[in-house]
Amino acid sequence: LSIGDEVVQGRIVDTNAPWLAQQLIDAGRRSGVRVELVEMATVSDASEHIERALVRLSAGADLLIATGGLGPTLDDRTREALGRVVSGPTVRDVGALDALTLRLERSGLALTAAQARQADRPSDFVCIPNEHGTAPGLHGALHEAEVLLLPGPPDELRPMVRDHVLQALAVFQHPDGEVMHTQSWVAFGLAESVVATALGDRLCEGHDPHTSIRVSNGLLHVQQSSVDKALLLEDAVQVEAALGSCGLPAGCDSPAHAVHSLMAGRGMRLAVAESCTGGLIGGAITAIPGSSQVFAGGIIAYDAHTKINRLGVDAALLADDGPGAVSAAVVEAMAHGACEAFGADAAISVSGIAGPDGGTPDKPVGTVFIGTCVEGTVRHRRVLLPSDRRRVRTWAVHAALMALLWHLNGVDAAMQWDAAT
Ligand code: ATP
Repeated sequence: LSIGDEVVQGRIVDTNAPWLAQQLIDAGRRSGVRVELVEMATVSDASEHIERALVRLSAGADLLIATGGLGPTLDDRTREALGRVVSGPTVRDVGALDALTLRLERSGLALTAAQARQADRPSDFVCIPNEHGTAPGLHGALHEAEVLLLPGPPDELRPMVRDHVLQALAVFQHPDGEVMHTQSWVAFGLAESVVATALGDRLCEGHDPHTSIRVSNGLLHVQQSSVDKALLLEDAVQVEAALGSCGLPAGCDSPAHAVHSLMAGRGMRLAVAESCTGGLIGGAITAIPGSSQVFAGGIIAYDAHTKINRLGVDAALLADDGPGAVSAAVVEAMAHGACEAFGADAAISVSGIAGPDGGTPDKPVGTVFIGTCVEGTVRHRRVLLPSDRRRVRTWAVHAALMALLWHLNGVDAAMQWDAAT
């Protein structure tokens, strides 16, 4: 249960519920308890809404976790709402009050009446220490359900869950032996409908393994779960066949990650020369811990001058009567130039029309040329990406990294976005 006006009004996106769901599934797997998530609900800070949700959700589950509304201000009403729906009095927790006083003292602050309220709990509940904020969590029971109230800020919630909550949950103390196993894949360059067709009736409700497919930021995610591990392993072969070369190696959640792992494993160094992606490829690679092992550097070669002077692109290619900046010849020269400039083993280059202006009948908005150079051999591909600037730029990053992955592996594969060159 996510509680807060900001969440119901859409001013902040609820990250707590999905994160908690993942933690519970993982903890269930570790402790041999099959976790079935049945509902995620969101309510405003209004007391009556919180009370109604606590009563309704706790009646239908073994475990209810609520986040938000535990702070010191008057619009934080979760603790009081719980107090009204449980039997028994509210008490002020001495340990929690001491911890709160100490925390405030360390910041040179005195405890106010509003802050002291955060140490209140129903007499049958216990407080969970909050080492990253002032509001302790609460742990107890309502109806048949084990109930947790946790702080809304993720920086407080997450360490509290990891350090104090998961190991204390009663629902994880009685393993039923039915461990839910999962497996997942990430792919780029395949239409969702094509993959769905290839997966056939796996996507039907009730199918074992349970299979789901979703697209996020251009990346296709396939996930499977089952209590039958052998069944999963058997099915993995079919799913991998459906994804083909567009599927990333196990454990890689993005093309950048796949390129990084492959090149790190081979001891290779990467350089980039980016035009329309403006540094996003370098950004994607350097977001991966340990990227200095692989990433030599990059040049954002946005204008013709930079392409010529920094990457050695032949000026004739960029002249009015040449193929132009968005062309196979230019990205190949850029990729080669980037390898030379950085003494790298491999390079990626990108030049395209991200829009909204600049498209022509020949090269509409979304046209992106990608160059790759691996140990002196250059390749290019032309793609046509869905035409809004943000998507063209982010998907071009994935497309370029896939192109390099294939080049490094000597694979000649097609992607959904390929356009005739
Ligand atoms: P506080 O002491 O800050 O008031 P709290 O437990 O009362 O703590 P809230 O007031 O509900 O928490 O939320 C405080 C902040 O935490 C929000 O402004 C938001 O930034 C973040 N937050 C709360 N709930 C969520 C959520 N479901 N997903 C992501 N962030 C959240």
